[in-house]
Amino acid sequence: MLDITSLNNLLAHPKKIVFTTHHKPDGDAMGSSVGLYNYLIQQGHHTTVITPTDYPDFLSWMPGNAEVIIYTEKTAQSAALIADADIIFCLDFNNLSRINEMGELVRAAKAYKIMIDHHLEPEDFDDFRHWDINACAAAQLVYSFIVDVLDNKKLVNKDVATCLYTGIMTDSASFRLPNTTSAVHRVVADLIDAGAVNWRIHELVYNSASENRLRFLGHCLSNCLEVLPEFNTAIITVNKHDLEKYDVNTGDTEGIVNYALSIASIRLAAFIVERSDKVKLSLRSKGDFPANEICKLYFSGGGHRNAAGGVSSAPLQEVVNQLKLILPEYKKLLIQ
Ligand code: 5GP
Ligand code: MN
Repeated sequence: MLDITSLNNLLAHPKKIVFTTHHKPDGDAMGSSVGLYNYLIQQGHHTTVITPTDYPDFLSWMPGNAEVIIYTEKTAQSAALIADADIIFCLDFNNLSRINEMGELVRAAKAYKIMIDHHLEPEDFDDFRHWDINACAAAQLVYSFIVDVLDNKKLVNKDVATCLYTGIMTDSASFRLPNTTSAVHRVVADLIDAGAVNWRIHELVYNSASENRLRFLGHCLSNCLEVLPEFNTAIITVNKHDLEKYDVNTGDTEGIVNYALSIASIRLAAFIVERSDKVKLSLRSKGDFPANEICKLYFSGGGHRNAAGGVSSAPLQEVVNQLKLILPEYKKLLIQ
């Protein structure tokens, strides 16, 4: 285990540092990783961000993005960097299974492992932990890691601020979720003061879709949405032919589940998609309904109370039926 003094001593001289985050990275995963990268490059460290898989185009503009390595595309180089690292930062995840086969490489690496995360139930693989489930985003924790733990607010420059703003904006669903506290807004104000251009970041993330993506969204809402009024639940089911037909790319499905949740009575929304190797579920809920419990108990997943995910190796329709069979158990919570 590292304490804050030994962590500061460790970072006082140039080190070989790897940053990694969960597979299929979202805005918070990329924002917190590249944000911390932009902070540490100012101190002369040898730094590399390695993502387990690719990530959407609408996240590929952040400062430092050109230097990001994707493990599945540069496996040998990534493995060598992980084995050789002095420090590995694990951002926006807390279980090594979330970084696929990179997990065992990170576990075996000699590096100090530092976890910065806001998910429940962390696995015990780290040497230093900056972890708070009440944080709205890992990027919020990266900010407090730099400002409070390392006491280095002056190095939060425009690039750092831009990345961290992106992480907080995306994970808080544009500052809408209940964990977007006044403290979060103060952090965001600091980030804007440090150079983050809020309206421009919003444009780059939310107004950069392809025509196909919008037509795919229309298809999901018109043809794939099933509303179950007796359970205040809405399910969008997408098969692999739809993905091919609309040429759906990484990230194009993100956020579609929120349209199902936008119906007034709905307390639980699911987006269930047939990927090439497995069925992926994204669950969202309102209020205190525990979407993460369903993912954890039935779909080898987890997440937050209002936003969770999981997977299944069963055929698509079976997964949908399985979810429907679970709903009666939660009826009381769903119809209150
Ligand atoms: P999404 O539906 O956007 O994939 O994920 C929503 C939330 O659930 C995110 O916070 C994500 O980290 C978490 N999540 C998604 N899939 C999994 C999973 O398979 N396992 C765990 N533990 N968390 C997941
Ligand atoms: Mn996050």
